[in-house]
Amino acid sequence: MSFEDLNLHPAIIKAINDLGYTAPTPIQQQAIPELIKGHDVMASAQTGTGKTAAFMLPALNRLATPAKIHGRGPRILVLTPTRELALQVSDATNKYGKYLSRVRVVSILGGMSYVLQNKLLSQTVDILVATPGRLIDHIQRGRIDFSRLEMLVLDEADRMLDMGFVHDVESIASVTPSNRQTLLFSATLDSMIDKIAARLLKSPKRIQVASHRAKLENIEQRLHYVDDLSHKNRLLDHLLRDQSLKQAIVFTATKRDADELADDLAAQGHEAGALHGDMSQRERTRTLTKLRNGRLRILVATDVAARGIDVADITHVINFDLPKFAEDYVHRIGRTGRAGASGIAVSFASGKDSISLKRIERFTGHRITPSVIPGMEPKFKPRLGQNDGKSQRTPHVAHKRNRSWASNEKNVFNHADSNRNSPHKYGRSTANDSRKRSFRRSSQFNSGIYAESSN
Ligand code: AMP
Repeated sequence: MSFEDLNLHPAIIKAINDLGYTAPTPIQQQAIPELIKGHDVMASAQTGTGKTAAFMLPALNRLATPAKIHGRGPRILVLTPTRELALQVSDATNKYGKYLSRVRVVSILGGMSYVLQNKLLSQTVDILVATPGRLIDHIQRGRIDFSRLEMLVLDEADRMLDMGFVHDVESIASVTPSNRQTLLFSATLDSMIDKIAARLLKSPKRIQVASHRAKLENIEQRLHYVDDLSHKNRLLDHLLRDQSLKQAIVFTATKRDADELADDLAAQGHEAGALHGDMSQRERTRTLTKLRNGRLRILVATDVAARGIDVADITHVINFDLPKFAEDYVHRIGRTGRAGASGIAVSFASGKDSISLKRIERFTGHRITPSVIPGMEPKFKPRLGQNDGKSQRTPHVAHKRNRSWASNEKNVFNHADSNRNSPHKYGRSTANDSRKRSFRRSSQFNSGIYAESSN
């Protein structure tokens, strides 16, 4: 199948050709015809599958014909869980729509100035890409007219659910016209997603593409057992010296740790920076621009902030701390191996991580083989029978997500703030800080699956 077979407006095909896309991806092949026919669609597709074009090309196709209703409000509304994803969707939209005349794309995100947003919303908007919390604010202040709205897209609906945006998403949907077309994209389609779809979509077509397994094929996954924080730091240092590492994202469990590790790495002479939800939008954008331009080799990030990052040169993802949810592992490692390239994902796991590791392996259906770097072997080895399992071939088993209905990212991700009370001041960290941190965090390594080796 080619893009020409999809009945898209010639101006959209021209933009697609400029981008060098030769054929639609599976999600695009399946979703675009249904969407052009006007059906509601719920699709399981992750970042990296081409899902943005799958919904945005039909959305732009609608804009190729004039609106039936006069007004200034958006004709297309895309809701995303994070600011980064919203910006990425906006960027992609501008690329796909560049030959269509007068398509105005506006992003409304938390952390940005209301004054600027009020100005943006006072003019005609065709496509509005927004995070739910801030959009609700503007709706409550009567700043958005949805009378022209034709299409509502819920992007990464599972993550919006996890972040407690369900009420906000439903409130937003309730003020849009009931004859709208509604699309829901989610990494997985489970019973919670089904419930939301039943409330917001009309007889949706269900589309399922590439499983987690298929998607990870081009990513080599490695595991290093670690004894303590200083062991992690030594391994990290070793990995970062590898010449084949062009750019890497290093994931930490907390925002504090992201700051501290980025500071430590910068102090060691690496081009490193942090990215997390406590940074202002301006700082986040600046850091991401540096990453895209290749001026930042190492990004130290938390899950929420790094979700959706699409930078072709990221050769390595390093899980300095394992993610809390198995699904985040897939999102994390999907930051490498973009657009068909191969990538390397390295995870550090300590005794306390045995359950997380098992969940990840069950979720991906892939056992991660432990690796050892000569001279940096762990003192502790996993006990026989613990995490020595054969490849778990069970398909995805829905793990317990945090279904908090609080509409605040911090409530749901409070594990990311768990060190907040410790007295560290932001800024450059010192060797003394590192030692304290090493001491503080070493207590996390006491429990678990390790049996002491002979020494
Ligand atoms: P997404 O899943 O929307 O985040 O897209 C992942 C990456 O695939 C982005 O870099 C897109 O530019 C790229 N992409 C989307 N559709 C195609 C296509 N049909 N052919 C090649 N690359 C594509």
